[in-house]
Amino acid sequence: DVVPETPTALPAAPETHIKISSRERVIYPESGLTKGELADYYQAIAPAALRWLGNRPISLVRCPQGRAKHCFFQKHDAGSFGDDVHHVQVREKDGSTQPYLYVDDVDGMMACVQMGTIEFHGWGAPVADIERPDRLVFDLDPDEGLDFTQVKKAAEELKGHLADIGLTSWPLLSGGKGVHVVVPLVPQADWPAVRSFAERFARALAQAEPDRYTANLKKVTRKGKIFIDYLRNQRGATAVLPYVARAREDAPVAAPVTWSELRDLESAKRYTIRDAAELLDRAASRALTGWGEADQSLPDL
Ligand code: ATP
Ligand code: MN
Ligand code: MN
Repeated sequence: DVVPETPTALPAAPETHIKISSRERVIYPESGLTKGELADYYQAIAPAALRWLGNRPISLVRCPQGRAKHCFFQKHDAGSFGDDVHHVQVREKDGSTQPYLYVDDVDGMMACVQMGTIEFHGWGAPVADIERPDRLVFDLDPDEGLDFTQVKKAAEELKGHLADIGLTSWPLLSGGKGVHVVVPLVPQADWPAVRSFAERFARALAQAEPDRYTANLKKVTRKGKIFIDYLRNQRGATAVLPYVARAREDAPVAAPVTWSELRDLESAKRYTIRDAAELLDRAASRALTGWGEADQSLPDL
């Protein structure tokens, strides 16, 4: 008997015991997408998202009344999210210790969504050792008026310069205006070393091409340029995580893509929370196998 080859089945959304209230509440007024639809997206995408989102300190963008109403960035919490959202004690600059949040399963993600979370942002280090980053992120922030073609060109150039010093990188569509260039690291160097590397790398690019790039946070220096935001790479800073829904018009998603796909894309908002099936399919596809993975350490620079 010949057993027909079945295409790789999409994993069913994992079960969760978290109940989502007010499923009909509109979270994205411009498109009518509801809290229930956002929750369904996160439940479906959890198997792909947890690979990045799980087991690292997270900050949440919460918009309990929807993205057009009051939203706030939340870094820590003593327990109002329930037992599925865990805590990792983080020593702050002022000497105090704060309970930062992390999740490690679909229930934790859904508990956050139930509490009005739209976006999940993550540290560049795992809960297992928050002092040793396991990735670098260069967040490319174009000045108003620059188009996506220029962002793509900048991302490609960063990729090339990183490759020149032995580092493999991957593009993440932010779901907003820019692209994040993600560089996985073996957790080894500490935060000061990682931040220093990222800053020197960004400054060297800005110095070589001052008309196109700036490494200066001040908006006035950004005129017509792309800000290479290296500050995502300091202790306590976060960046949006793969597969996270954005609190922006029409519910775009931060999405991993390949370098060759990026060349053909017209915006960083290619995927939205309506695309859960396609995103899951892609996550399991050959094209994205190995995305964001490499055994590599910071070179001397
Ligand atoms: P875009 O491509 O549109 O720039 P982005 O996610 O890169 O989207 P940025 O404004 O560049 O948005 O922010 C970069 C990162 O800085 C965010 O992903 C987030 O983790 C962090 N961040 C943004 N706003 C805050 C805030 N109010 N407090 C703390 N961290 C923030
Ligand atoms: Mn950005
Ligand atoms: Mn930024």
